[in-house]
Amino acid sequence: MKLSVIIPCHNEEKNIFLFYDEFKNAFKYYKGTFELIFVDDGSKDGTLSEIKKLVNKKNDCIKGISFSRNFGKEAAMYAGLVEAKGDYISIIDADLQQKPSVLLNMLKILEKDKDLDCVCAFQEKRKENKIIAKMKDAFYKIINKTSEIEFVSGASDFRVFRRSVAESIINLGEHHRFLKGIFSFVGYNTKFIPYEVEERQNGTSNWSFKQLVKYAFDGIIGFSNIFLKIPMKLGILSFFASFIYLLVALLLKVELNTVFIIFLILLSLSIVLINIGMTNLYISRIYDEVKSRPNYIIRSIIEKEDK
Ligand code: UDP
Ligand code: MG
Repeated sequence: MKLSVIIPCHNEEKNIFLFYDEFKNAFKYYKGTFELIFVDDGSKDGTLSEIKKLVNKKNDCIKGISFSRNFGKEAAMYAGLVEAKGDYISIIDADLQQKPSVLLNMLKILEKDKDLDCVCAFQEKRKENKIIAKMKDAFYKIINKTSEIEFVSGASDFRVFRRSVAESIINLGEHHRFLKGIFSFVGYNTKFIPYEVEERQNGTSNWSFKQLVKYAFDGIIGFSNIFLKIPMKLGILSFFASFIYLLVALLLKVELNTVFIIFLILLSLSIVLINIGMTNLYISRIYDEVKSRPNYIIRSIIEKEDK
């Protein structure tokens, strides 16, 4: 059996050989074959030349993909998925925060259990800044309340899965890809195992605060239509509020002219919001159709076995 390892890299020049050495060390007794796919996501440092050196120096099956500019980790992982030829496919960071030895354990779990399709590592304890950790928890709460699919808090892109899972993902036609959500969407039997994030080996994290917020919004917009539903909810609220206001103001005998002006403003606001809300119902449908996610994904077909 062949394992494909996808390694997205952005400004990781000092980590390429380190990663390779640690991977080789962890996999020295591995019986199957493997391919390493380094995706250079438009690095500004010497990452690409380090990948080239590695490809030419070592006898192992190592491939490099070089992007024309920085497209982001999601794009790098997708490019790796398209390129991967293995029976098992895995995604792991280049900075060694995720240990290749843990990857080997995850692979063993997957190999042993035929009913399992994916093993995903999740962070039990977040090691990052408390505010960021709180924001990430809030993100999972919002997305789980507003989306039809379930997101596991702390689940990472650090995964090993069967070819069938990768093919289901590649076959999705959508352009904006939020892989954590896509893994949940395609389903399959997934085992979540806790892991501890190591310290970054060299360089700095590539995520700025602004990018993290954008990433969270990408996830919410990609997997729920909550923002399209807000005007309708506000409209209904302001519709009832306008009548409650009218009743209370009349009971309190407030000056009639002012009461009616404010009542009319609230009422017209609610009518406008409800109309936007109704248009959004259609936009929401169009959005779902444009994403054209499949109605179902078949994991296997059960037929009578030949005796
Ligand atoms: N990465 C990438 N493109 C980007 C940002 C990051 O390919 O635009 C890679 C990066 O080189 C690393 C992985 O994605 O291998 C995770 O990135 P990082 O370590 O910055 O994220 P963190 O561990 O802080 O979540
Ligand atoms: Mg990292």
